[in-house]
Amino acid sequence: MTMSNKGALARETIVAFLGDIFRRRGGEEYLGEPVTMAEHMLQGAHLAELQGEDEIIVVAALLHDIGHFTSEFGMFSMEDTHDKHHEEAGAEVLDAFFPSLVIDCVRLHVAAKRYICATDPTYFSELSAASIHSLKLQGGPMNPDEIASFEKNPNVKEIVRVRRFDDAGKVAGLMTPNFDHYAPMIQRTVDKHFGTDPDSATM
Ligand code: FE
Repeated sequence: MTMSNKGALARETIVAFLGDIFRRRGGEEYLGEPVTMAEHMLQGAHLAELQGEDEIIVVAALLHDIGHFTSEFGMFSMEDTHDKHHEEAGAEVLDAFFPSLVIDCVRLHVAAKRYICATDPTYFSELSAASIHSLKLQGGPMNPDEIASFEKNPNVKEIVRVRRFDDAGKVAGLMTPNFDHYAPMIQRTVDKHFGTDPDSATM
């Protein structure tokens, strides 16, 4: 059974909904990279976990590209005049369920690339060819005004860290735990957002 009806989404069903997308769609190509979409997102989460990052960062790394699957969220409309950017689409669908830190990491992961390119001279040389190509389409490195306004975000450090896990999660053949390993972390993050005592959260 698939759950592609966004209208049914609730705190109790969001994790299963996301897992269903990973299972059905995760094998799709991540354009220009030697990993699938699921491998890419799972690698980002895995690397964050290996670094001892807080759960919320692991969850943000896992979900940062979920907006590539906007068709799952009933967000296409015949009235759309242009393609919705995947980072914006992802943030929009997660917005009701996750803390603003996660939403910022998702919404701003493309901006973060433009920011780090402008502020870390070594970063550009580490980007994949596909990421350099998309950087041009995304507006290139930030200018000083853009840098200043980006740094006003209270979550800027976390946003940059998630971006670095994004960039690192493109390794052909790197094994990771599967989605189910992360499901309890996602649920705890959702439950905290809804204000549940973590001890009473159930999976
Ligand atoms: Fe990514």
